[in-house]
Amino acid sequence: MSSMLPAVFVSHGSPTLPFDDVPARDFLRGLGARLGIPKAVLVASAHWDTPSPAVNSVARNATIHDFYGFPKPLYELRYEAPGAPVLAGRAASLLAGTGASIDSARGLDHGAWVPLMLMYPQADIPVIQLSVQSGAGASHHLALGRALAPLREDGVLILGSGGFVHNLRAIDWNGGAEPEWSRAFAKWLHENLVARDEAALADYRSRAPFAAQAHPTEEHLVPLFVAYGAGGAAVERLHSSATFGSLRMDAYAFA
Ligand code: ZN
Repeated sequence: MSSMLPAVFVSHGSPTLPFDDVPARDFLRGLGARLGIPKAVLVASAHWDTPSPAVNSVARNATIHDFYGFPKPLYELRYEAPGAPVLAGRAASLLAGTGASIDSARGLDHGAWVPLMLMYPQADIPVIQLSVQSGAGASHHLALGRALAPLREDGVLILGSGGFVHNLRAIDWNGGAEPEWSRAFAKWLHENLVARDEAALADYRSRAPFAAQAHPTEEHLVPLFVAYGAGGAAVERLHSSATFGSLRMDAYAFA
């Protein structure tokens, strides 16, 4: 890929992904080498949802195990990447019009560290997180991405981490076939991403088939719009698969 990194969206799936022998894990394991080494990473994660945007600014990121009832080895994983206080300040100032704030305590939730552990396992690249506002819709997150786009010129990887289809009540832990509603929603979303139909994307909730079923709440989809807003015009699907029935693991680059 070119010298400027694309903005990227990944689906992080279940917290167990590092231990699951599935295509999405193998894809993420190869993604870091494919993209190259950024100077720093800004992750917009579905698992940090606040009323107005926040970025974390710490010397070193603690690993937040923000999930319950999973096997013990998962709670022993650590991804203590350095923070990036200067970058956090710059990101907050680019987002000043949105009332953005700095959080000087928070580390990385599993929406950030699960994919980063697979992409950049040495945990030596500085990372900051950006929170999402799940009640604010697609347009708000497209605007956040656009405001942050200049960071890409400084070698920052802008990474949205969520889920392409994410309905926890519909998950089939026994791994059944993907249901038709999930396929239909994913097909619509893919077609409108590739067409760069921003009006349709911003209005996906009323235009896309089965939108409310694919995303009963929006926090796992809005990181996609941050990446879209931050990225360039070349849309590339990097990966497509589903686990546990309807949990879609698709990933995109916006170069
Ligand atoms: Zn998640």
